[in-house]
Amino acid sequence: MITQYHRPSDLDEALALVSQPNTMPLGGGTSLTAVDSSGPLSVVDLQLIGLDGLDSNGDIVTIGAMTLLQELAESSKVPPVLRDLAHREAPNTIRNAATLGGTIASAHAESELLAGLLAFDTTLFLSRTDGSKTIPLSKALEDLSVFDGAIITHVSLAATGTAVAHRTARTPADRPIVAVIGRRTASGETVIAATGLGSGPSLIDQDRLQTLQPLSDFRGSTEYRSRLAWVLTKRVIEDLEKEPVL
Ligand SMILES: Cc1cc2nc3c(=O)[nH]c(=O)nc-3n(C[C@H](O)[C@H](O)[C@H](O)COP(=O)(O)OP(=O)(O)OC[C@H]3O[C@@H](n4cnc5c(N)ncnc54)[C@H](O)[C@@H]3O)c2cc1C
Repeated sequence: MITQYHRPSDLDEALALVSQPNTMPLGGGTSLTAVDSSGPLSVVDLQLIGLDGLDSNGDIVTIGAMTLLQELAESSKVPPVLRDLAHREAPNTIRNAATLGGTIASAHAESELLAGLLAFDTTLFLSRTDGSKTIPLSKALEDLSVFDGAIITHVSLAATGTAVAHRTARTPADRPIVAVIGRRTASGETVIAATGLGSGPSLIDQDRLQTLQPLSDFRGSTEYRSRLAWVLTKRVIEDLEKEPVL
C-alpha cells in the first residue's frame, strides 16, 4: 500500500529518496499504483526532474525515461516498427499515462515493445546515488535487480536499419502468443528478438530456433510456440530481404 508520495525537483534528490528501503520510482503509475505491497510503500514521482525529451541525430535516437508510450507511438523520430509496437503495448488511456522507463522496469514477459527495443540495440542509462552507468537492455532483462535503487534516466537506440514485426495472437487485440521482430542493420547484420519463447522478451539466435523449448500454457503448447517461432522468423526474414536498408 502506498503510504508516502514524494515529488522531488531534481535527480539527486530523487536518487537519495529511491535509495531508501521500500521506496520506488513512480513513472506513469499505471502499474505501480495497482501494486498490493505487503507493507508500506513510498513512491518518488519523477515528473519534475526533466526525464522527458526525444531526439535523434540520424544514427541514434535518445529518449527520456518519462516519455509517454503515446509520444513514442506518434513521434516521427522513432523507427516506424517501434511506433507500431508502442501503440500495441496498451490501450489509449494507458499509453497516455505509462512511460517508457516504467514499461522497461516492469519488464513484462509479453511486451512486444521490449522485444522491439532489443532489436534496435537499446542501451539504458541508469543512475543511483553512487553514480551512473549504461547497460544494454538485453543484459538488464536477464537480471532485473539492476533496477533496485536505480532510476532509468533515458535510453538510446539505433535509428537506422530496416525492421519488420510478425505476431500470432488469439485475436488482433490480444497479447501475442509469439511475436518476432527482426531488424537488418545498416551493415547488413540481421538481429531477431521475440516474446513468447522464454521467460520474457529476448534476442534470438536464428540458428538455434530448433533448440528452443518454450513453456506451454493455455494459449499455446511448447510444440505450437516452437512452430510459431520458426514460421514467424521465416516471414520476418523474407520481408527484410524485400526491404531497402534505411
Ligand atoms: C502484455 C502486458 C501486460 C502487462 N500487464 C501488467 C500487469 O498485469 N501488471 C503490471 O504491473 N504491469 C503490467 N504491464 C506492464 C506495463 O508495461 C505497465 O503497466 C506500464 O507500461 C508501466 O509504465 P508506468 O510509467 O505507468 O510505470 P509505473 O507504474 O509508474 O512503474 C512501473 C515500475 O517501473 C518502475 N519505474 C518507473 N519508472 C522508472 C524509472 N524511470 N526508472 C526505474 N524504474 C522505474 C516503478 O518503480 C515500478 O516498479 C504489462 C505490460 C504488457 C506489455
